[in-house]
Amino acid sequence: MAQRNVILLGGPGAGKGTQAERIVADYGLPHISTGEMLREAVAKGSDMGREAQKYMESGQLVPDEVVIGVVRDRLAEPDAAEGFLLDGFPRTVPQAEALDAMLAEAGRAITHVVLIDVPAEELVQRIAGRRSCSVCGKLYNVTFDPPRTAGVCDLDGGELVQRADDNEDTVRSRIAVFERQTAPLIGYYTDKGLLRNAPGGGKLPDEVYAQVGQILAD
Ligand code: AMP
Repeated sequence: MAQRNVILLGGPGAGKGTQAERIVADYGLPHISTGEMLREAVAKGSDMGREAQKYMESGQLVPDEVVIGVVRDRLAEPDAAEGFLLDGFPRTVPQAEALDAMLAEAGRAITHVVLIDVPAEELVQRIAGRRSCSVCGKLYNVTFDPPRTAGVCDLDGGELVQRADDNEDTVRSRIAVFERQTAPLIGYYTDKGLLRNAPGGGKLPDEVYAQVGQILAD
């Protein structure tokens, strides 16, 4: 099978993480989430984590050189050699250019860019309901994708928690950051003929995945 080097693009709360869980299960690609890697660094209290935390708490982007370094190291791991799924990276044009350059050095290139397009008002609503399992990380939404028992993970009974940066003030700045710094990537990847749109507004995860699956099948 041809290699899939996939980017998931979309605003905060668009459903990238939820779609990523499904793509990973179906295609066996390693899930590379810069947000997740940065949250782990914050939890460990490493120098990089302490540096990243101040940006994350205010909903701003961590500096490009920090995130590019994290992705460069992660893509060099053996499990990424046969394909990967990037979730939350790139988020700026300089990050996209750095990614293209590091892949080109290895004779590789991005094969699919999937935009999960959700209107800004809906992003705020979705993030307010977002929860994740404190044990396995599985994502839920109390309104759109609830667990069988409120507050408890279906898979392992873990407590469901809310991310520190999922409060309303931070969400508004994250959406503004998306529109200013990340939305230009839509043009960047359209010009390369790579961008495919999976409209997510008003849709449940299964409905969005039906489109994402078709895009990745190509
Ligand atoms: P996410 O889990 O993708 O929503 O990311 C959470 C936060 O981590 C973001 O609001 C940023 O502060 C930071 N972050 C994640 N990925 C990146 C990236 N590619 N570039 C800069 N900051 C990032």
